[in-house]
Amino acid sequence: MADMKTAAYICQGCGIGERLSTAQLAAVAQKEGKMNLVREHAFLCSADGVQRIRADVGTEGVTHIMIAACSRRAKTEAFNFPDVAMARANIREGVIWSQPDNDEAREITQEMADDYVRMGCAEAKKLKLPAGNPNVAQNKRMLIVGGGVSGMTAALEAAEAGYEAVIVEKRGELGGWGGKLFKRVPAHMPYADPVATGVAELAAKVSKHPRIKVHLNSTIAQTAGAPGRFTVQIAAESGAASAEEVGAIVQATGFEPYDIQKLPELGGGKSANVIDQAGLEALAREAAAGARPLGRPSDGAPVESVVFIQCAGQRDDSGKHLPYCSGHCCNTSIKQAMYFKDANPAIDTVILYTDLRTPGMTEDFYRSGQKKGVTFTKGKVEAVETNGNRCTVQFKDLILNEDTSIEADLVVLATGQVPNSGVNIELPEEEQAASKTVSILNLTYRQGKDMPQLKHGLTDSHFICFPYETRRTGIYAAGPVRRPMDIAQAMEDATGAALKAIQAVENAALGRAAHPRSGDLSYPMVRLDGCTQCKRCTVECPFGAIDEDEKRYPLFNESRCRRCGTCMGACPVRVISFENYSPDSVGSQIKAVDIPDEFSEKPRILVLACENDAYPALDMAGMQRNVYSAFVRVIPVRCLGSVNTIWITDALNGGWDGVMMMGCKHGDNYQCHFVKGSELATYRMSKIDDTLKQLGLETERVATYEVAITDIRRVPQLINDYAAKINEIGMSPMKGFA
Ligand code: SF4
Ligand code: SF4
Repeated sequence: MADMKTAAYICQGCGIGERLSTAQLAAVAQKEGKMNLVREHAFLCSADGVQRIRADVGTEGVTHIMIAACSRRAKTEAFNFPDVAMARANIREGVIWSQPDNDEAREITQEMADDYVRMGCAEAKKLKLPAGNPNVAQNKRMLIVGGGVSGMTAALEAAEAGYEAVIVEKRGELGGWGGKLFKRVPAHMPYADPVATGVAELAAKVSKHPRIKVHLNSTIAQTAGAPGRFTVQIAAESGAASAEEVGAIVQATGFEPYDIQKLPELGGGKSANVIDQAGLEALAREAAAGARPLGRPSDGAPVESVVFIQCAGQRDDSGKHLPYCSGHCCNTSIKQAMYFKDANPAIDTVILYTDLRTPGMTEDFYRSGQKKGVTFTKGKVEAVETNGNRCTVQFKDLILNEDTSIEADLVVLATGQVPNSGVNIELPEEEQAASKTVSILNLTYRQGKDMPQLKHGLTDSHFICFPYETRRTGIYAAGPVRRPMDIAQAMEDATGAALKAIQAVENAALGRAAHPRSGDLSYPMVRLDGCTQCKRCTVECPFGAIDEDEKRYPLFNESRCRRCGTCMGACPVRVISFENYSPDSVGSQIKAVDIPDEFSEKPRILVLACENDAYPALDMAGMQRNVYSAFVRVIPVRCLGSVNTIWITDALNGGWDGVMMMGCKHGDNYQCHFVKGSELATYRMSKIDDTLKQLGLETERVATYEVAITDIRRVPQLINDYAAKINEIGMSPMKGFA
């Protein structure tokens, strides 16, 4: 690049100057890195140091800088130079803090730092300053699908923050299941009695809000577009059609109670006197409205005894029913037992449970139930027999270890929540077509018309790090559609989702990435003249960001893109890159490292570390002075999914002795910030064995690891174990050819 002017800055602070020869680092930057300007500074992050860099940018016309100092994750506010391309060489956490401070280690510690400076200089020269996605989209309205507690809360939170919200609700009124409750479990002190739900008031507030529009008796006929510019076709039950332009979407489509007809062994569907919790709420509301007393459904006679059966069709390991716990049902049964006790303390109420789960302060609610005379019996229900107006619950008393039974007028089954997620787009197309499930979002995306689902049919969300985030940028999940929950949790969830939706529209309006690289101005650029139309990028993009144009070339949709680089890792002809992250920017770092000869006994091990978990874990290992092998050179990558196999083959051809790839956990309980990236990398690397064999290399030379951000001790151990293994295998035979 003709107008590129490079500068390298070597910091001497934080002990770097005492542990390393910064003069040597400066010489490396000058002679090998060929940087136009090289400076050392006593404390580069100080006002003076930062000013020095700014002055060089301003007066010397520096365009590309390399800072050799602390980790790129540290001092980000000080080292914030939006007008230049910047690379950071981590010689603090990654070198002096991860190596022993003694004379014996001095030489290899310096070698490590020299290499990081070489790599930093090489990277800096390959970077461009991202200009931002030119296809900005300015619509900041929110569409909320579902008018239950979660949906109403999301709409209200967005509206109160100044954003317009549109609710689409399939029923004729707002409220959802929450609106059908008589009372709710208390969420505040003193946690003693059931309290008013507040749902009617919430619905009234939503209906009157000037920034909220509500479509009742309506469903989504089609959703097209991307963050900042979704067009949503709405179909009303009346046949009327309308359209809404919105910037982000919150899917808050809630749940259906598990069907008690599927539990005949517990009397489900066999007697009017065996009902689920929703059924009891309906009875309680009718009684409160004076429609009928809270009596036995079969004949309206006063109820003298009620048995609540917990975990009915839940936590089931037979594969027949729900395998999970719905979280709220223990407290719900306590609340419902109180409906009876508060009306007439003489009514016998028994809660039969195997484990009673009343988390947090709701333990007080449980104690309140005990005080009111609710009986809690630890027992495993074997069967519910129905006979006329009476039910007999047979169970094993788990305390007395004996089979016994109770007679009851009414049996209430604590069934679970089944999410309303729409069509499972991960099923084969014919199975989707054959399924009776109705689509909710009707997305026009190549990847399917609803959102991906996690296990148990729950709508996708990154439940560990980013609840509400889904694999469809700008579309968030809130409430029981993403995991079972109670009203209090649903309201909190909806607030989080609304805030995420706000972030999405604000970022889209500025041409920036949404979470987790929030604010990143880079975006994937494809050189279509080199594209072979293999479709790997389109298929592997975890976020459905790539469609195809009429000539079947990949069509990138920048505002749906999360900038993970998975497409870049997938592309066999390497025509996809970002201005600040590319096959070349990483490849040139790999090539910049000084590879000692085969007789040196100094192997070189490349660590490609995911910037979300593995790299922070390595930084923290350094902060805790957890020593690891000085033979590794770490390159942070956006996601293991962005690792292109060319980097591995280039490294091995270049004489590196091994490659470690560290990414997040994958599978159903994934932690990968880009969902599929680390899984894809593992898959791709499973195919690299043939290449290794062709090169005459042992397959152990390339290894992938799943690590978590908390693996501060484990990650150094993995490195040390791997270095020991390389020591056993011996130096790469490729060194002689490199
Ligand atoms: S794979 Fe990642 S970087 Fe590529 S288009 Fe999809 S979201 Fe964007
Ligand atoms: S992976 Fe590369 S070659 Fe294949 S379709 Fe995408 S851009 Fe084209």
